[in-house]
Amino acid sequence: MSSDESSDIFDCQQCGECCRGYGGTYVTPEDMQAIARYINTDPDTFGRQYCRISGSRAVLAQGENSYCIFWKDKICTIHPVKPRMCKAWPFIRSVLSDVGNWRAMAGSCPGMRTDVSDEKILRCVRQEIERREKGQL
Ligand code: SF4
Ligand code: SF4
Repeated sequence: MSSDESSDIFDCQQCGECCRGYGGTYVTPEDMQAIARYINTDPDTFGRQYCRISGSRAVLAQGENSYCIFWKDKICTIHPVKPRMCKAWPFIRSVLSDVGNWRAMAGSCPGMRTDVSDEKILRCVRQEIERREKGQL
């Protein structure tokens, strides 16, 4: 399978829905370092100015419009270094444990196709996770 098959089932529409509200975008220490470097600050300052704590973990702050603080003029302004969680979407492990999660996630993500077989979804998700873990993405 080529990665083109993954683009058969997901094509981001740049709508920004996943950058808005609710659960929050978790950032790992590695994410924080990369983003801080990208915006020319240090990780501590970045944490104070651009993150909030959710439970015991850091999430990106949201603006008053409830969008992620880095969503501006309909683009992600930190796209090259966006958090692991944003890069992974929607090829995430929870789909492998229940393919129904793909169809549920698609309810809020117009880039995800649902008129495809479970087998194809699972194949694509598995492949994208493997590529990510090998550092190919
Ligand atoms: S909700 Fe889906 S289609 Fe919209 S920006 Fe996010 S990933 Fe892309
Ligand atoms: S970092 Fe970028 S992709 Fe991730 S939630 Fe914020 S604006 Fe969206």
